[in-house]
Amino acid sequence: MVDQKFKDITLDMIKFIEASPTASHSVAESIRRLEAVGFRHLDEKDKWDVKPCDWVYFTRNGSSLIAVRVGTASYASAGFRIVGAHTDFPGLRLKPNGVYSKNGYLQLGVEIYGGPIIHSWLDRDLGIAGRLVVEDGGESDVVLFDVKRPVCRIPDLAPHIRVNKTEEIKFNKQDHMPPVIGLGDEKSLEEEPVKKLTAKTAGVDPAKVSSYSIEIYDVQPGTLGGMNEEFVFSRSLDNLSSCHAAIKALLKAPDNVPFSQVVALFDNEEVGSQTMQGARSGFLDTVLERLCMGTENSREDYFRALANSIFISCDGAHALNPNYPEAHEPRHYLYLNGGPVMKVNAMQNYATQIEAKEHLEKCAKRAEVPLQTFVARTDVGTGSTIGPMTASRLGIRAVDIGNPMVSMHSIREMGGTEDQLHMVNLLIQHFS
Ligand SMILES: [Zn+2]
Repeated sequence: MVDQKFKDITLDMIKFIEASPTASHSVAESIRRLEAVGFRHLDEKDKWDVKPCDWVYFTRNGSSLIAVRVGTASYASAGFRIVGAHTDFPGLRLKPNGVYSKNGYLQLGVEIYGGPIIHSWLDRDLGIAGRLVVEDGGESDVVLFDVKRPVCRIPDLAPHIRVNKTEEIKFNKQDHMPPVIGLGDEKSLEEEPVKKLTAKTAGVDPAKVSSYSIEIYDVQPGTLGGMNEEFVFSRSLDNLSSCHAAIKALLKAPDNVPFSQVVALFDNEEVGSQTMQGARSGFLDTVLERLCMGTENSREDYFRALANSIFISCDGAHALNPNYPEAHEPRHYLYLNGGPVMKVNAMQNYATQIEAKEHLEKCAKRAEVPLQTFVARTDVGTGSTIGPMTASRLGIRAVDIGNPMVSMHSIREMGGTEDQLHMVNLLIQHFS
């Protein structure tokens, strides 16, 4: 059996993911953990007064988060140690006029967010979660909701009644993707049953809900699996496992170190990061610059701080799928429970830079954590992540890493039980 210390942290990660049916919920869960130990919120609209050793956090759109534990030395001399990850994951989102009735069913017209493995979404128990804008006496407020039960499902077609029995169905995303959420006709829509359900879940008066957004997710909780509980089966390991590891490492690392420790969790990586809160925005740049200018009052000191900084970008890596070994570079198979993965790419789809790589290897040695290295097959290429955007925007030395997983972007991914503790221990050394 896998050692209890590995299981404990992976079970905590499963709880983090369960609390995070949307990117906004994952930020709320991170904030809950940060505030429990004394981090305080600062608004971008306000004037900040941040002193050495302060613990502060910032949000944008409620779906991206930056947490900073300010160091003891000046920013210019000690720089920032940053861990970045993304809060979003592939899924389905309700269209504006999305709720409709068809052939006696109530259904949800949905858009696809990011690149999910579509067939993995069929016949699953799906819940809805999202945000409500609540108007009350001229004030408006954003409230999160999560129904936490299987209210909808995308039904596949029985083989017996397929028109051409020998051929696979041509799955059409417009026609075949809309989940069913109940039974009813056109008339039953007048009551706005879905809006009512969301308001009731959030404990607010439906009449006060001026608008709402709905995302669809798999309600089945994550679990340990395998003969010896060596696996973890869960949705959204890409990339909530990295968000969890980053927050966990920040809270477990020593404070009162010279440099400032930063966790930056960005929304919208799965759709290119080009949003006001994404990794291509100026969110991280402006937070770091304003912190520097607030105490050192010199733009030169800010640039000195960046030159003294190191960024670790953390996102899922492709472990060997034993049924498809041909998909992987044969001399760089990645194994579950083989430890965190450093990612290398000649086309610079990963940010890995030589000095940051050396820093990472030293951290791994100190933490006694095994490291694996990923490089793609030459004829397949690779995805990318937030590492290169952040490294190039800020001019910070960076390294791309991530934990190995199988079935990335499936509604239910698969990782190794031991890797989460390895990742946390590795990131603690980065912050030490
Ligand atoms: Zn990812």
